Amino acid sequence: MERIKMKTPLVEMDGDEMTRVLWQWIKELLIEPFVELKTEYYDLGLKHRDETDDRVTLDSAEATKKYGVAVKCATITPNAQRVEEYNLKKMWKSPNGTIRAALDGTVFRAPILIDGITPYIPTWKKPIVIARHAYGDIYKAADMKVGAGKVELVYTDKAGKETRMTVHDFDGNGVALGMHNTDKSIYSFARACFNYALDVKMPLWFSTKDTISKVYDHRFKDIFAEVYENEYKEKFAAAGIEYMYTLIDDVVARIVRSEGGVVWACKNYDGDVMSDMVATAYGSLAMMTSVLVSPDGIYEYEAAHGTVTRHYYRYVEGGETSTNPVATIFAWTGALAKRGELDGVAALTDFAKRLEKATLGTIEAGLMTGDLVPLFKKEGVTPKKLESRAFLQAIAERL
Ligand code: NAP
Ligand code: MG
Repeated sequence: MERIKMKTPLVEMDGDEMTRVLWQWIKELLIEPFVELKTEYYDLGLKHRDETDDRVTLDSAEATKKYGVAVKCATITPNAQRVEEYNLKKMWKSPNGTIRAALDGTVFRAPILIDGITPYIPTWKKPIVIARHAYGDIYKAADMKVGAGKVELVYTDKAGKETRMTVHDFDGNGVALGMHNTDKSIYSFARACFNYALDVKMPLWFSTKDTISKVYDHRFKDIFAEVYENEYKEKFAAAGIEYMYTLIDDVVARIVRSEGGVVWACKNYDGDVMSDMVATAYGSLAMMTSVLVSPDGIYEYEAAHGTVTRHYYRYVEGGETSTNPVATIFAWTGALAKRGELDGVAALTDFAKRLEKATLGTIEAGLMTGDLVPLFKKEGVTPKKLESRAFLQAIAERL
């Protein structure tokens, strides 16, 4: 059989532990037999990040800007224990944080739905995608404990002129917080959300608390409205999708009552919290994909889960593992499909869709990894737990 040829290479970011093992097997069993895989390879495994003083992470982000599409394996974000385990020179920063900063992106998290796994909210028939603004607010804030006295917000402009506002006059102990965002980042966030919604042809809902936060959150609302009016209104109409702004309380109520099928754009903290709620309600973190989209249309695909350390230690000791590869497979198919679309290689996009179908079909036929077995309920199908590699082989057979 002739394999599908690629035009432009994908940026391939290898990673750590169990997901690094799955990464090789996915390529070997599911992709390379069908595609003449062309990638520019970056080893983001912790050992190599340490050897290169984390240069490799920055290089992979630069390559992503150059080629436009990347696929990333889960990576370890080092903590004190990892510094010791890997004898690191330094506690390197989160690669995801570094890549996000370089691409100025917004993170979209989407669940993979399976016939046989009912969400905890049974009316959710279609995916709910959370678009999380990944810059600023409480994640880049200054906060302090205070005693009796006055806390003020002071802005000094370039000419040295001060504007002061009282936050609170304390007559006892308390806490205070100062946070910020930038127009530039909010414009990027807005464009990334509008582009993504157009891409997947799903309506976009954006929520803040602008009735209470009359300046801060209101700025987000205004920027989204301006970008929509000037740049996206006609494109949305042509695609037959709508943009809606409403209060976060209102969206929470609407989401619970909905059947899914929306992109929900959230401020940083809302997105952090709501993505965990949505992921849990759909059943499993191992069935959640994640894509980072930059305002100029650069895509980086990955699984939302980590390196599955506990399974890896068992694997290293020669024990059996049943680690779910679905989100990592979908990271690959997302990247291949996008590459095919951008390069006009229809066979590549078509292959990616077939691989997704074969993956879902394998589970729906009752063959799955251990994490899904207790969630799976389908008439006439008894779920069977397979080991990590055997599950990939079952998908390969169906494919
Ligand atoms: P994790 O790797 O997501 O795993 C947490 C637990 O969730 C696992 O022990 C496993 O439960 C279950 N799980 C997650 N993914 C699974 C899968 N594909 N198949 C089956 N079960 C799965 O999170 P973590 O243990 O908190 O973090 C491990 C490492 O990953 C850390 O070093 C962290 O820095 C890194 N991390 C990286 C990323 C990223 O690169 N995007 C994201 C998060 C964490 P059981 O053990 O009960 O089976
Ligand atoms: Mg969270």
